[in-house]
Amino acid sequence: GTGALSLLGSPLGAPSCPHGPALLFVKTSQGKEEGRKFYACSACRDRKDCNFFQWEDETVSEARLAAREEYNRNHQPSFTHTQNVDRYKNFVALPLSKRRFCQECQQLLLPAEWEKHSDHQFLCNISTAQLKSPSQLLYPLENKKTNAQYLFADRSCQFLLNLLIDLGFRRVLSVGTPRLHEMIQSKASEEEFSVRSLLLDIDFRYSQFYTEDEFCHYNMFNHHFFGGEAAHETCRKFLYEESGERVIMVTDPPFGGLVEALASSFKKLMAMWKETEKEGHDNKEMPMFWIFPYFFESRILDFFPNFSMMDYQVDYDNHALYKHGKTGRRQSPVRIFTNLTPSMVVLPEEEGYRFCTVCQRYVSSGNQHCEICNSCTSKDGRRWKHCVLCKKCVKPSWFHCNNCNCCTLQNHSCEKTDIGCFVCGKAGHKRSACPSLS
Ligand code: SAH
Ligand code: ZN
Ligand code: ZN
Ligand code: ZN
Ligand code: ZN
Repeated sequence: GTGALSLLGSPLGAPSCPHGPALLFVKTSQGKEEGRKFYACSACRDRKDCNFFQWEDETVSEARLAAREEYNRNHQPSFTHTQNVDRYKNFVALPLSKRRFCQECQQLLLPAEWEKHSDHQFLCNISTAQLKSPSQLLYPLENKKTNAQYLFADRSCQFLLNLLIDLGFRRVLSVGTPRLHEMIQSKASEEEFSVRSLLLDIDFRYSQFYTEDEFCHYNMFNHHFFGGEAAHETCRKFLYEESGERVIMVTDPPFGGLVEALASSFKKLMAMWKETEKEGHDNKEMPMFWIFPYFFESRILDFFPNFSMMDYQVDYDNHALYKHGKTGRRQSPVRIFTNLTPSMVVLPEEEGYRFCTVCQRYVSSGNQHCEICNSCTSKDGRRWKHCVLCKKCVKPSWFHCNNCNCCTLQNHSCEKTDIGCFVCGKAGHKRSACPSLS
């Protein structure tokens, strides 16, 4: 239909699916709520991945509740995290020739299990180096609507790590950033490298490679720790800044929307940090890097008005569009949003970033300071142009449309819609025609 879905939150007592408490939604049209409210899975927006559905006002029979509980139990991973940690110990004790990884089941195999996987594809001679880079061993879950696992290009990952080390952080809460976590973990064995990381991610395959102190199975859309109170406590302990080891949270969530659900979980993680040491933190917030596309800027600022968007373009390995190429580079739309003072976030000059003394932040080479706006206005790295009618800078490919009374793409249709676009929040177009996505 024409309506959009609005998230109403995650009320206490919400029913659960295998991914933890469900979220409450309502269909909206023209900005008005319409129809019955319903619960749906927080993590999977593709109903093929989780088809949980319940009307808010529905009475669920005892029998259905019992069936649901059983279903949720049956849809938990076949091994617990503790079992996986044990299995790992046994695995590394094996000679190289006996170390197999089943590619179909995405699982490290112990010799007794070979038989069961005999007609599956597997990798042999799994080296210690491979075990230290699970993100290379596991295939990325690219399912757009659910996992959207886009891994950092080495250059971007290295940049992030150096940046946070230079900023003095010694602990990283890696929320949905397995590759950053892995880079930190594999360096942690080196001398003079004192940074530690805790990975929170919904991808349980990682529990095969990390202990309970290194990985928590976590859903960032409903702040659900699958490991219960013990996992909560692990996270709390990690956030406690012993001996002045400062913590930063780095997150790179799937881009498919639900910004309010993410923001609500991140606020809960921030609150956890704040509660760990009441005296020291005063009015401070846990430092954070939220990695997300620039066209979500206004949505993020709705929830975190003190955040700023950095010009750095985050590149990915397995994303055709967001890759850094030598020629004809497709510019990545992905940026870092942070509550740190922008001037502290130093961007690499060798990649063309420069410091704007007026804006007091690093900007990309194409981002010209506009004298009228008095700021470096480009969001996408290209040079933007100032429109006197709109009284702001706009993309170079836009022109001012007198019908719409704003700047937009040349070949748009002048239909008006009252409700704002789901992606950029602006009126005048729908999500499918959002100029930010062009
Ligand atoms: N660029 C990052 C990966 C980002 S991809 C890196 O290279 O480290 C998004 C990550 O979020 C994936 O690891 C995915 O498993 C995780 N994720 C997806 N949905 C999630 C959810 N509901 N809760 C927690 N993590 C989730
Ligand atoms: Zn198998
Ligand atoms: Zn301007
Ligand atoms: Zn204009
Ligand atoms: Zn128009």
